Amino acid sequence: MDNSPDAPFVRFQDAGFTYDGKAFVFQHLGLEVPQGQFLCLLGGNGSGKSTIAKHINALLTPDEGQVEVFGKDTRDPQFTYFIRSNAGLVFQNPDDQLVATLIENDVAFGPENLGVPNPQLRQRVSAALEEVGLSGFEQHETFALSGGQKQRVAIAGILAMDPAILILDEATAMLDPRGRKGLMRVVRQLHEEGMTIVMITHFMEEAASAQRVVVLQEGQVRMDGAPEEVLVRSDELQHLALEVPFACRLALSLQRRGVDVAPCITDDALKEELCG
Ligand code: ADP
Repeated sequence: MDNSPDAPFVRFQDAGFTYDGKAFVFQHLGLEVPQGQFLCLLGGNGSGKSTIAKHINALLTPDEGQVEVFGKDTRDPQFTYFIRSNAGLVFQNPDDQLVATLIENDVAFGPENLGVPNPQLRQRVSAALEEVGLSGFEQHETFALSGGQKQRVAIAGILAMDPAILILDEATAMLDPRGRKGLMRVVRQLHEEGMTIVMITHFMEEAASAQRVVVLQEGQVRMDGAPEEVLVRSDELQHLALEVPFACRLALSLQRRGVDVAPCITDDALKEELCG
């Protein structure tokens, strides 16, 4: 167990996992996520992204090697509760994640279960709703919300538990473009405020908001770098059945004509254009 103050928040060390005892989803996997990083995991269907996300939340534990979260071994049952309550996981379907009819009660559900006392609870609920841009929605009913608003309530419910990592597993997949943009705005804001974020998405343009992009194939890390390095490797990405964002294709095309525009992917204006 690594208790050093600068230990990464997440560390997969020679890790292997199989659902059926035979076929490994990943094996000999090494992956570290430092505190404060915004990491995007990309990869085709079945490449192991969700399985990795569930390991970070200790919902699954490795069969081989080790996964440490916050320096704690996820297989050690004494840390399971600590890891789960500090690594918040948001799933794809917003309807699966809301538990109460009133937004206020929904957001309060997690911290209430953690035993947060009442005045502090109300404070946490309103701070979390403010964070996701839903201040004043406390008394609204959850069923009347749009998909994007529901996902933001789901995130607020996690934020109210004061987690150290936010894991988004295809959280934008079922949202319309407006809902996706709103959610990405919240995610970027949280990262700017210091939250460690692991985001799984199949919308490549969302990866432009991350600091680091890891591309998986059959449980193996095939690419690992800043978005402006990874997203321009169009031939390799297409080989992995990943669609290169239009802006990157445009950048490459201009670059072939002698214009060096690839670094622009880091530009805030372009990110805004890509992700809203
Ligand atoms: P991704 O998120 O990249 O689509 P997953 O982590 O969901 O990939 O899946 C990786 C592999 O594990 C796939 O081959 C998938 O069929 C298999 N798998 C995922 N969940 C289960 C499960 N609950 N039981 C058995 N196999 C599973």
